Amino acid sequence: MSVFVSGANGFIAQHILAQLLAKDYNVIAAVRSQEKADGLLKNFDNPNLQCVIVPDITKLEAFDDAFKNNGSKIKYVIHAASPVTDHTDNFERDILIPAVNGTKAILNSIKKYASENVERFIQTSSLAALTTVQDYANPKLSFNEKSWSTYTWESCQGSMFDAYSGSKKFAEQEVWKFAEENRDTIKFSITTVNPAFVFGPQVFDNEVKSKLNVTCQIVNDMIHLPIGATDFSLNPLYCVHVEDVAKAHVQALDDPTLVGKRLLMSNGLANRQDMLNIAHDDFPILNGNVAVGTPSNGFIGKPLPVATLDNTDTKQLLGFQFKSLNDMFDDLIRQVLKHEGKI
Ligand code: NAP
Repeated sequence: MSVFVSGANGFIAQHILAQLLAKDYNVIAAVRSQEKADGLLKNFDNPNLQCVIVPDITKLEAFDDAFKNNGSKIKYVIHAASPVTDHTDNFERDILIPAVNGTKAILNSIKKYASENVERFIQTSSLAALTTVQDYANPKLSFNEKSWSTYTWESCQGSMFDAYSGSKKFAEQEVWKFAEENRDTIKFSITTVNPAFVFGPQVFDNEVKSKLNVTCQIVNDMIHLPIGATDFSLNPLYCVHVEDVAKAHVQALDDPTLVGKRLLMSNGLANRQDMLNIAHDDFPILNGNVAVGTPSNGFIGKPLPVATLDNTDTKQLLGFQFKSLNDMFDDLIRQVLKHEGKI
């Protein structure tokens, strides 16, 4: 029996694939084009990996062919595909609708073609489903695995990040609603994985390009800041290592204690100055070549300037030690600097 993974060429999904294949799962990986499929198959070079092409998740029948052809062998589904972009001015068309329709589409295809055998459905949701940008910035507030943001479809369209956050809330709500409405016809149970900002290395060194996925690009930009630059956001970000996020997805496939849970994945806060401080401390080659910013503006070790994130339940349920923020940034920075021949 196989695990179906959507958005399989994505930053997080490739780590999920790597961990699944290491555990000898058979994986059916959905990507948008044959070119992306060829890239994945070449990099992983593993007979347990097969690819299917799902060109556009905004179409409500997007996953039908994939499930019609493979449904009988699929036992687990991980839905990781969703827009993560930093360049659109049409939030509804490019962020909200694909996120929500993609989720509806995959759930309905399972119902139509694989309801007999799919046992688990894992949705890659987000911390962004739990809080608005405004509430996040309020140190008097706190949120945990039970929280939902107050965004409406209309109120989330003020900025790209609001729209992304709304898209994650509305997509995740489709999952819980579907489970409720189809309680008698489907047999799969659900877990959502709700990561904070995810950083870390790409699975394959040859995936390192001058522009990385949206979150890793934040660090990539910081380690290429020209000397003297101090003009960057100091907003603290809750962060988590990509390998821990992937591990939570894989654990959710067969850990009965994770059924019906939302796993809030974060291991602390850092701002862009912290990224620079860690980069300079751990990679001396950067000294004299990259901005130092204002080291004392780093957030780590200071009182909490934003809402408290309480994920005690998640950590207890998962039972593994999350990787440190230093390791998370170092793993990413090391890979980029190696790619550039600097170390
Ligand atoms: P990513 O590398 O950009 O991966 C996104 C995946 O979704 C890609 O495979 C992408 O395909 C696919 N996708 C996006 N829009 C699509 C569309 N309209 N039709 C078909 N496929 C589409 O980003 P990521 O960081 O790995 O994100 C993966 C998941 O984790 C997403 O659900 C995201 O919301 C969630 N998440 C990410 C973070 C983070 O900090 N990175 C934090 C919390 C949650 P293409 O490559 O072809 O565009």
